[in-house]
Amino acid sequence: MSPLQVRSVTPRAPVPTVDTAARLELLEYYLVHNEDLARCAQASLDWLARYCGIRRSVCLAVEVESSMLVGLAGYGVRAEDVELFSWPITENDDALIASLERTQPTTFRAARANGHPVRPVPVTPLGSAVPFTAFPLHGTRPQHQAVGLLLLRGGTTPTADLVWLISVLGQKMEQIRGRGSLAEELRRLRRERALFFTIINSVTDPILLTDTEGRLIVANARAERLFAATEEESEGRRRAVELNNMLFSAALSRTVVDAPSEARELLLVDPSDGSDLLFEVLSSTVEDPREGTGIVSVLRNITDLRRATEQIEENYQKLRVAEAAARAERDRLNLIIDSVADPIIVTDPAGATVLMNAPAEELFTVALDADSSAQRNVQANDAHFSSFISGLLLGESGPGEIRRGEIGLANPNTSEPIPVEAIAGKVMTDTGELTAVVTILHDRREALERARLYEQLKIASDELQMRVQSATAELATQNELLRRQAIELEQASRLKSQFLANMSHEFRTPLNAILGYTHMLLQGVAGELLPNVKRQLTRIDSNGRHLLTIINEILDITRIEAGKMPMQITEFNLNELVPEVMAELDPVIARSKLTVTPRLSEEPPIVQSDRQKVKQIVVNLLSNALKFTHQGGIDVAVLMDHGDGAAMISVTDTGIGIAPEHHERIFEDFRQVDDSPSRPYGGTGLGLAICRRLANALGGRIVLRSDIGLGSTFTLTIPLDAPQ
Ligand code: ADP
Repeated sequence: MSPLQVRSVTPRAPVPTVDTAARLELLEYYLVHNEDLARCAQASLDWLARYCGIRRSVCLAVEVESSMLVGLAGYGVRAEDVELFSWPITENDDALIASLERTQPTTFRAARANGHPVRPVPVTPLGSAVPFTAFPLHGTRPQHQAVGLLLLRGGTTPTADLVWLISVLGQKMEQIRGRGSLAEELRRLRRERALFFTIINSVTDPILLTDTEGRLIVANARAERLFAATEEESEGRRRAVELNNMLFSAALSRTVVDAPSEARELLLVDPSDGSDLLFEVLSSTVEDPREGTGIVSVLRNITDLRRATEQIEENYQKLRVAEAAARAERDRLNLIIDSVADPIIVTDPAGATVLMNAPAEELFTVALDADSSAQRNVQANDAHFSSFISGLLLGESGPGEIRRGEIGLANPNTSEPIPVEAIAGKVMTDTGELTAVVTILHDRREALERARLYEQLKIASDELQMRVQSATAELATQNELLRRQAIELEQASRLKSQFLANMSHEFRTPLNAILGYTHMLLQGVAGELLPNVKRQLTRIDSNGRHLLTIINEILDITRIEAGKMPMQITEFNLNELVPEVMAELDPVIARSKLTVTPRLSEEPPIVQSDRQKVKQIVVNLLSNALKFTHQGGIDVAVLMDHGDGAAMISVTDTGIGIAPEHHERIFEDFRQVDDSPSRPYGGTGLGLAICRRLANALGGRIVLRSDIGLGSTFTLTIPLDAPQ
């Protein structure tokens, strides 16, 4: 049986034996064969046989058109007897016809008198002389003539089912004949049934009616989804349904045994997706006089409720964690606020202080037993701060903005004024409500002191700057003076050089004449000379030549300084210059008894330079070496330095040497190491000065390496190509 089938019961007295479904079955048949009177009658007789055990029956109907009572259907009788039966209803005194007028059944039995029948039993399809009971079939109006008769053998006592059948068959016959309400009842029953299912299906909770063994009798659509599956449905779904039925039966048996009305939790499987569903089962037993004990169970889905409960629990846990975090945050904030050296005050939106750190407490709190001046100072501090905060709260600055201001506070104990800069910020909620104002006070004393010092520094700096300016101006004046002096000196030097050049020239002409005449006299042009005259003439010649050398050197210096020293650049071999120099100084070398060794370059040292000037330098260096060396020897070496593009001639002696402090000075004009009048060596002190000037004019230089007592090396370096 499908779980959707309802075996509703309408208890009537006497107790019915045929169930509702069987009755419905018959009524449905009536409905299907709405117009066919014979078939409906036949079905009724069949029904009687099946459910009430009436094995022989006949249904007769009044045929209004022919005014005949005719056979309509029969059970357990011959069909032709039924078909052929007809009885005029105009026979008013006929007992069978008379039974049509009655509401109660009429039993026909043969009445006998003296062994002979006085009133025969009417012949019916049940057979002749067979006693029977005729039940009038009335429609909805029993006061009218019946629409037919139901004939049953013997004197039958009507059962409830028989009474019901007579009633519905009568109504059906009446309806078919245009006066019935059988279909109406069926429709009503159907409507009620549909309404019943609409109601229980509209309940979102599964509802089930089961018998005490847990077998399903009625279930709404929700319950069906969980507990019913057809063969065509998937294996998974069927298995889930099976499991659900098992779980439900188990829960139900416990409920019935333990606590029938108590709510129980039941975990089922959703057959559509296999997810868990948690239900609360509320069961109650119902008693039906015919059906017996049943159990109505309502399952409330509490899966979401459980989830929500778990979610709430989880949220609660989160809330507790968040609370702990907020507490920790607040502790940390307090720690931070306390660790800041500047006073910090937190006020609520009404301006009342809610939090302050230790430095702030020193300014705004006072011990109860403190002296009156301390109390006054704290009150004054408080008043100043409050007026600053009220300025902020009265909207002088917008939300989220920061207000800065200066407040004059005082040290409560010493009354020392403390100018502070107050920086206050509003703390807003997400919804834009003001929750607090945080103010930091910054002691400005140090900043003011710094500003004062800065001012002083600035004044001092300005003064210094002015002094520097005046000193610079003075320096400029001095410089200008010096520049003029330098120009004057230069002019004087030029005049001096000019004078020297002129004088040298003027000296040289008569001196050459003196030397010429002396030479002629010494040659005996004026006759043989006495030995002492010749000796004195020789001295005149020697001193004259010395004087000529000096004059020539002075002339060279002045020429070089005046830039009038002409250059004759030619290509020559430096190696060839060395023997020439030695030959020129040969008498001196011979007198000195020193060995002069030439060390020539292996590769030909060809240079483009002024041959005469280079030779003059080397002659000068070698004559100095000969002059200041008493023993040992002198090397004259020629070297090439291709890397620097230069050639070198160095003169190395083993003479008296030169102290380091004189290395530079001996190149100055008229400078000598020993310039005392009693010096043992002659000379003007101009030789090296001329050599350096000439070397520079050739693009070269002279370098000295010497140690006192160990000898000296003068090296002339000239470029392979002299600058033009
Ligand atoms: P002077 O005509 O006096 O030689 P110089 O200019 O040639 O003038 O030399 C200057 C001085 O340098 C010399 O007086 C001497 O004291 C010193 N001097 C030059 N060459 C040598 C040398 N080879 N050894 C030692 N002293 C030297």
